Amino acid sequence: MKVNLLELLGVRRAEGVHPPGFKVAANRAIERVPSPDRVVLPMSQHIGAPAKPIVKAGDEVCVGQLIAESCGGCSAGIHATISGMVKPLTTIISPTSGEPVPAIIIEGDGEDRWVDLVPADPATLSSEEIVTRISAAGIVGLGGAAFPTHLKVNRPPDSPAHTLLVNGAECEPYITSDDRLMIESPDRILAGVRILMRLLSVERAIIGIEDNKPNAISSMISAVDKAKLSPSVEVAALPAKYPMGAEKTMIRSVLGVEIPEGGFPTDMGIVVQNVATLAAIADAVIDGRPLVERVVTVTGKVAHPSNLLVRFGASAKWLIDQCGGMSEDADSILFGGPMMGIAQPTLDSPLVKSTNCVLVKKADLRIERGCVRCGRCIERCPMGLMPLMYVSHVKKGMIEDLSDYHLFNCVECGACSYDCPANIPIVSYIKVGKAKLRQLGGKS
Ligand code: SF4
Ligand code: SF4
Repeated sequence: MKVNLLELLGVRRAEGVHPPGFKVAANRAIERVPSPDRVVLPMSQHIGAPAKPIVKAGDEVCVGQLIAESCGGCSAGIHATISGMVKPLTTIISPTSGEPVPAIIIEGDGEDRWVDLVPADPATLSSEEIVTRISAAGIVGLGGAAFPTHLKVNRPPDSPAHTLLVNGAECEPYITSDDRLMIESPDRILAGVRILMRLLSVERAIIGIEDNKPNAISSMISAVDKAKLSPSVEVAALPAKYPMGAEKTMIRSVLGVEIPEGGFPTDMGIVVQNVATLAAIADAVIDGRPLVERVVTVTGKVAHPSNLLVRFGASAKWLIDQCGGMSEDADSILFGGPMMGIAQPTLDSPLVKSTNCVLVKKADLRIERGCVRCGRCIERCPMGLMPLMYVSHVKKGMIEDLSDYHLFNCVECGACSYDCPANIPIVSYIKVGKAKLRQLGGKS
């Protein structure tokens, strides 16, 4: 029997944590940087099966050309992000999973030659044509989840949606790429909102933005007013608390709906899309433009923290060099923010679709000690879980018992380990526990 000790003990669910923002790049306008001379494009840039290469060494490719096709099912295609010559297929350590993955390298010719793009008027496209254009563009969730977007927005008739929830929370410290996009390109985001509202047949869209981004809020409100989309599209200012941007947290805050363990927002008629994904949908459906670049915040211990519009496949080193280099005491690079970011083993790690931030920092060498049972992790968990139990169960090898503590409800936000006085990397234990439980056939 599954237990919820919090309910038994009458402990209230916490509302998250307040880590310092460190949004030092918030006032830096998005800067388009030149295309890199060389890109490395891993075949796994999304949740699901890796893409299958369809080019070979020596082939000349143009920007936007499909170079690896979706394997069908849960997968997404990958496009050339510079023009030039394909090198022999190689294997790299994935910047997202840490596992070896095949990767296509392109040596650039410096010409930035594009494939011919085929624009369209979204109003004249059928639902199937819209989904096909999103799929053909290789779009995945750009907020970090990297779930293939064409699957998320292609609702079966027996599972209709009623609300589109637009995620503009960007709650992780340091990251400002979505903030800048909302300030600088609100119309493009709204174009994506309109396309999805039509595709999903929903009459309501809510754009959720943390209230520490007043410029983004006013930018989106002005764009909604200008497009006369109110009241079907509204902007909701949300309390700035980490992890407001986690889907389940945002749904609870905005709509008061609880997504059950193992369930998905779409089961409850809610489709959540990140603002950058919506802009990419507009690019694909209106302009026929594949996903070859994104806005990424390069910040932390770099000379000039910036928000760069960059082609995928550029290396972390190349990105850091665009920002004046890193300081001498920096020795650690994360893709993502300090709470959920993934440590990179090398400066050669390439920018992939889900990389919203390159954070340069000094490695955190705090020593893990034994749990002192202070209960702080329980108080901080926005999902009402008991993180300390995951640590003790994984340490003792009591894997099967983990499901009694709703392990798969954990969104891996890291709020529990944020100020654990014993410096326990709780999320690492959670990831191990989930992997082992899956091996035992546990439901995720
Ligand atoms: S915050 Fe750390 S020390 Fe306190 S109960 Fe949780 S795991 Fe144990
Ligand atoms: S990582 Fe999981 S257990 Fe820890 S606070 Fe977030 S949801 Fe709760």
